[in-house]
Order: sequence, then structure tokens, then C-alpha cells
Amino acid sequence: MAGKEEKEYICAYKYCLHHGDRVKDSESVVINRKHYHWDCAGMKQEITDCVNTYMSYIEDKTKYPIAYRAINTMVFKNRVPIEYIRKNIESSKLYYSQKPVQVLYGIRKLFYEQEFKV
Ligand SMILES: [Zn+2]
Repeated sequence: MAGKEEKEYICAYKYCLHHGDRVKDSESVVINRKHYHWDCAGMKQEITDCVNTYMSYIEDKTKYPIAYRAINTMVFKNRVPIEYIRKNIESSKLYYSQKPVQVLYGIRKLFYEQEFKV
């Protein structure tokens, strides 16, 4: 195989955890013909699961994009762990089912209060 370069792809994940490093064909995960790093594919799946969990508690299914954006923002911009967000949603489903989607951002506040309490 000498001289034959393995094909590499740009990871299709918008929030790539490797900051745009290419992924080798043999190490990539393919979803809908797009190539991802395995951990990027895992993260994408975890976030989708978390959003789906939230959506299963609320009636207005048109809120999906807003919920998705809120959770992405908290994970990638605010560095709130996805497991933390999911646990909070699961343990407070009644609360979330009766509140507007923006209330999700309260999780970020909770997390910071717990993280940085003196
Ligand atoms: Zn990636």
C-alpha cells in the first residue's frame, strides 16, 4: 500500500470537536453519506437524543429548532455538559412541559451556580 494515501474527509459536524482536522476514511463514521469523527458523531447523536427527550414532554412540536439551538448553545458556547442538561430535563419534565422553550436556558444558570458556588 506504499504510496497510496488514505482518503481523508472534512468532518461534516458543524461543531466539530477537532476544530476542522480531517478524518481518515477508515476512522470516520458515515451518516447519510457524510463523514464524521466518531466522537463528533456520538456528540451529535447525544444532543439529538436530548432534544428529542425534551420534545417528548412538550406539546408544540414546532419548537424543535429552538430547543435544538438552545441545547447546542449551552453545550458548545457555555460548556454545560450534555449529561447535565439531559438529567435536568428528565428530572423536571412537568416543569418544562408547561414553560416556554427559552426556559431551557435556566439550566445554564443552574449549572454555573453549582459549579462556582462559594
Ligand atoms: Zn469532527
